[in-house]
Amino acid sequence: MRKKLVVGNWKMNLTRSEARAAIESLLLLIEPTTDAEVAICPTYLTIDTVAQLFRRSRFRVGAQDVFWGNAGAFTGNVSAAMLKDVECHFCIVGHSETRGRFGKLEVPESTIPYFSETDETVNLKIKALLYQSIHPILCVGETLAEREAGNTDRVIQSQLKGALEGIEGAEFWEGVVAYEPVWAIGTGKTCDSAEASRVCGMIRASLAEIFDEETAEAIRVLYGGSVKGANAQELFSQPDIDGGLVGGASLIAEEFSKIVRSV
Ligand code: PEP
Repeated sequence: MRKKLVVGNWKMNLTRSEARAAIESLLLLIEPTTDAEVAICPTYLTIDTVAQLFRRSRFRVGAQDVFWGNAGAFTGNVSAAMLKDVECHFCIVGHSETRGRFGKLEVPESTIPYFSETDETVNLKIKALLYQSIHPILCVGETLAEREAGNTDRVIQSQLKGALEGIEGAEFWEGVVAYEPVWAIGTGKTCDSAEASRVCGMIRASLAEIFDEETAEAIRVLYGGSVKGANAQELFSQPDIDGGLVGGASLIAEEFSKIVRSV
């Protein structure tokens, strides 16, 4: 039986003192009342602060990205070994924002190539994380144009194949896949729960083809995209949705605790 998982992606938000206050609220609001596994992915600069606050709790800390090299001349980057050193349990890879596939464009289009994470670099990152026993949270999802062209399943299957190339089922057993339709991220538009469940089921079937049935049954498939207290229960009660990856709503302790309690 897969344990439900709710992950907060704080993106580029909260200073150390703000993060400390947010975590103290979350621990009071959620910790004693949930059976779900809960993780927070803060910025690199606050991972250590959050990890220390979580030390005596059941909460996990994660990162939002990683570089695949071990060490060296990679200015501005952080390795999987460094994430392990600050007790990271999870790490998001292939988020649509790091792939440069924004649902709601807030940057000039000419700057998009600078984000451009690809299936190939996502694959290298996953391998680097697995080597350090950090569980990847692999994000996949289609843009609005891809959905409207009827290409949703094809795009996601190709992202899965590219990202998981050369990885064994036994290595990815505790990995996570998050279905994040790009058009639903940070836009307030949530994917219809039945459709989100259908896509998560399709993802599990693809994982069975890439690995095997047993591994696919063990991997948790989350939904992400404008999850909030008001829609979490409906989404999380779908048979193929094992929890959520939550952006904006994870910054508000009351809202995030409502989401976790709805598991
Ligand atoms: C995300 O960034 O992964 C996300 C799902 O964001 P939001 O919940 O704000 O749509």
